[in-house]
Amino acid sequence: MQDLTPSLLFREMRDGITTIPFLIGERVAVIKDVPAEICSECGEAYMKSSVVDRIESVLDRLEELHSEMSVVHYEAA
Ligand SMILES: [Zn+2]
Repeated sequence: MQDLTPSLLFREMRDGITTIPFLIGERVAVIKDVPAEICSECGEAYMKSSVVDRIESVLDRLEELHSEMSVVHYEAA
C-alpha cells in the first residue's frame, strides 16, 4: 500500500507574523506584526485576504498623514 505524504504535494505553511514595508509614492509605511502564513521552504509571507483588506485601509489613512515614514503595528492600526 502506497503512502502519500501531503508535505510532498503541498508547500508547508506555518502561521507567523511578519513586518512588511510599503511604498506609497515616495513615502514609506512599515507595518509590523502582520499575521501571515510563512512558507517553510523560502520564508515568503502570504497574507490572508482579510489581512490585505485591513492593510489597505491602514495605508489609506497613513496617506492622509503626509508623513515621510510611518511605522505602525497591525494590531493597533
Ligand atoms: Zn516558498
